[in-house]
Amino acid sequence: MVIDEATERAARGDGTDEALFQPSPPNPDCPICFHELPSQFTYMECCGKPLCNGCINTHVRVHINARRKAKKVIDLGDPKTLVRCPFCNISSSLSKKDFIGRLRKRIDLYDDAIAMQRLGLYYIEGSYGLQQDTKKGMELYRQASERGSVSASASLGDLYRGNEGIGKDMEKATYYFRLAAMGGHIVARHNLGIYEAEAHNFDLAFRHLMISAMGGFDGSLKSIRLGYTKGYVSKDDFEKALRAHQVSKDAMEASKQRDPFPEDTRAEINDGSYMLP
Ligand SMILES: [Zn+2]
Ligand SMILES: [Zn+2]
Repeated sequence: MVIDEATERAARGDGTDEALFQPSPPNPDCPICFHELPSQFTYMECCGKPLCNGCINTHVRVHINARRKAKKVIDLGDPKTLVRCPFCNISSSLSKKDFIGRLRKRIDLYDDAIAMQRLGLYYIEGSYGLQQDTKKGMELYRQASERGSVSASASLGDLYRGNEGIGKDMEKATYYFRLAAMGGHIVARHNLGIYEAEAHNFDLAFRHLMISAMGGFDGSLKSIRLGYTKGYVSKDDFEKALRAHQVSKDAMEASKQRDPFPEDTRAEINDGSYMLP
């Protein structure tokens, strides 16, 4: 989803509040279980499918258990023994280099925003065998953000808020936090609420914080509670926030229950901890 003009204007701060406070679009559904994807998901570097961690972990465990039962080894150098993608049937990446190569290919061929965001992150971290390079990472984040990556926008907001070597640019930070917040990023939304509260714009602060509290962000509820004790937030509004926050927490708990293996099995496989003797 490329960013439209109304969103761009609202992010720059010269649009109406209407776009800024639109209800966030839902995340896409996991294509296996059809539940809405949480903010943390597994990206398949083979075909670009985002899957919920519950689905991919179950898929991987079934593969591991079948090989264990058959007393067959998972050999990280042999694609025939590796887990295959439930969508495109291509085996997991053989190495970090292979994995990064697949991301680059998806960027070249499909202009894939998630692949741009991930590659940007690995440059910034200096992980997956890449030389640490903040400039390259930020350029990839920018490209991903332009193509609608909410996570890339939020990361840019964080970097511009003050990072060694980049310097602080609050205008850019706010621009990217607004983009991310409009895309449904609750921490970015919370930050906007805090900036408005610091500027004594308590009505706007409440509107932002209410959205992030509704998204289940504890810090926002805490800030609304503080606003209530100081008399900036009415009792009605505080109670509304409490209820909305609880509904969201219940939904999160239900989604956790659906994930039988919350830890990332694929990471364990890449570490080699699943190699059989
Ligand atoms: Zn799923
Ligand atoms: Zn695939």
